[in-house]
Amino acid sequence: MDFTIDPDDETFRREVRAFIAASLPPDIARRGRHDYHSAREDVRRWMRILNEKGWSAPHWPREFGGSDWSPLRRYIFQDELRRARAPVLDRCALDLLGPVICTFGSPEQQARFLPPILNGDEWWCQGFSEPGSGSDLASLRTRADLDGDTYVVNGQKIWTTEAHYADWIFALVRTDQHVKPQAGISFLLIDMRAPGVVRRPIWTIDEGLTLNEIFFDNVPVPAANLVGQAGQGWSYAKFLLGHERTTSAVVSHTKRDIEQVRHLAATIRTTEGHLIGDELFATKLARLEAETIALEWSVLRVLHADDGDVKADQVASLLKLRGSELSERAALLAAEALGDHGLAAMPDPEGEHRLRHDGLAPPLEDDEAIGVTAKTMFRRATTIYGGTSEIQRSIIAKSVLGL
Ligand SMILES: Cc1cc2nc3c(=O)[nH]c(=O)nc-3n(C[C@H](O)[C@H](O)[C@H](O)COP(=O)(O)OP(=O)(O)OC[C@H]3O[C@@H](n4cnc5c(N)ncnc54)[C@H](O)[C@@H]3O)c2cc1C
Repeated sequence: MDFTIDPDDETFRREVRAFIAASLPPDIARRGRHDYHSAREDVRRWMRILNEKGWSAPHWPREFGGSDWSPLRRYIFQDELRRARAPVLDRCALDLLGPVICTFGSPEQQARFLPPILNGDEWWCQGFSEPGSGSDLASLRTRADLDGDTYVVNGQKIWTTEAHYADWIFALVRTDQHVKPQAGISFLLIDMRAPGVVRRPIWTIDEGLTLNEIFFDNVPVPAANLVGQAGQGWSYAKFLLGHERTTSAVVSHTKRDIEQVRHLAATIRTTEGHLIGDELFATKLARLEAETIALEWSVLRVLHADDGDVKADQVASLLKLRGSELSERAALLAAEALGDHGLAAMPDPEGEHRLRHDGLAPPLEDDEAIGVTAKTMFRRATTIYGGTSEIQRSIIAKSVLGL
C-alpha cells in the first residue's frame, strides 16, 4: 500500500495551517496551551469562525453544510487543529449526533437541529450510560412512554460529558418493555430545559467538572423528537459509535502531548543538566514516540484502504485500545517529567473559571507545566469511555481472532 501523501493533500495541509494561524484568536490559542477541557465560549467563537469558512463539519455531506472531505483530509484537518491547540469542537454534536440526523433524521429535524450545531449555537450531550448500564448498554432502563403525541421520560443517565453546557441531550430510551432488550430501544432528542430534567455535577479526581448525572422525572418530549423509527435506536447507536473509524486513536492529541513532554524535559534541570539528557527518561520518550508513529501509520493505512478492505468495528476497537493506552502513557510521562513540581500545577478547586479561562496555579518550571497533573489524572478515563479496554479486547477476540 502506498502511503505517500498526495501533493494536493499537502497543499491542503498548508492551506489549513495558514488559515488556523490567521484565524485562531490569540487569547483562545493561549488558553489552549493550558486547558485540557475547552471553555464553551471559546469553542463557540471558534466554531463560528470555522463555520464562516464552511469548515466546522468536515465529514458531513455538503447539502447539510459539511465539507464532505475525504477521510485523509479530515485527519489532516484534525492534526492541524491539535498542533495549533485550537479548542476541541463539540464532538458529541458534530461527530456523533450530526451523522445520525443527516442519515436517519426527518427533513424537519435536519432543518431544525443541524444549522445551530454548525455554528456552535446549540450544544449537545450524549445520554447513553446509566448506573448499571455502561458496558452492558442494552440493559438500559430509562423509559419513554408514548402518551398521545408526547413521550413521557423517566429514568437516569450518568457520566454525561459536558451536560452542564448542553442545551440538548440525545438519549437512548426504552420505548418497549416487551421485546428483547435491543429491540425496545429508541433514539430521542430531549431539551435540557424541559420540566423534570435535573442535572447534578460529578467532580472528578482532577478537580475538574466535565461529568454529570441527569435525572428525568416525567419529562414531556414531543414525539416529533424521535429520530427514525421507534425500536431502531440500537442500530442508530451502533452506526453512531462505529461512524468514526480512526479518531478514537487520538493520535494527534498524543503527538501534541509528546511535544509537550519533550519541551518539559528539555527545560527541567537535573543535577547533571537537563532531564532530556537522562538516558532512562529519553529512552521512555523515544519508545513512546516510536509507538505513536507506528499507530499513526496504522491510522493512515486504514484511511488509504478501500472501505471493503476494512471492517469498521474491528478497526475501531484496535485503534481505540492502542490509542487510549498511548494517550495515558504520554500524560504519565509528562507528570513524571514534572515530578514533585506537578502538585503545584493543580487547579484551584474553588476556581473553575480560573481553570478554564486563565490557567491554573502560577507556572513553576515552565508555562507548559500548567495543567499537566490534572490532565494526567483525567487521562485515566481514556481507557474507560467509549468502551473500556476489556470490552475492546473482547470485540477483537471475537471479531478479529474468531475466538
Ligand atoms: C470521562 C468519561 C466520560 C464519559 N462520557 C460519557 C458520555 O458523555 N455519555 C455516556 O453515555 N457515557 C459516558 N461515559 C460512560 C462510559 O461509556 C462508561 O463508563 C463505559 O462504557 C463503562 O461503563 P461503566 O462505567 O458502567 O462500567 P462497567 O460496565 O460497570 O464496567 C466495570 C468494569 O468491568 C469491566 N467489564 C464490564 N463488562 C465486562 C465484560 N463483559 N467482560 C470483561 N470486563 C467487563 C469493565 O471493563 C470495567 O473494568 C463516560 C465515562 C467516562 C469515564
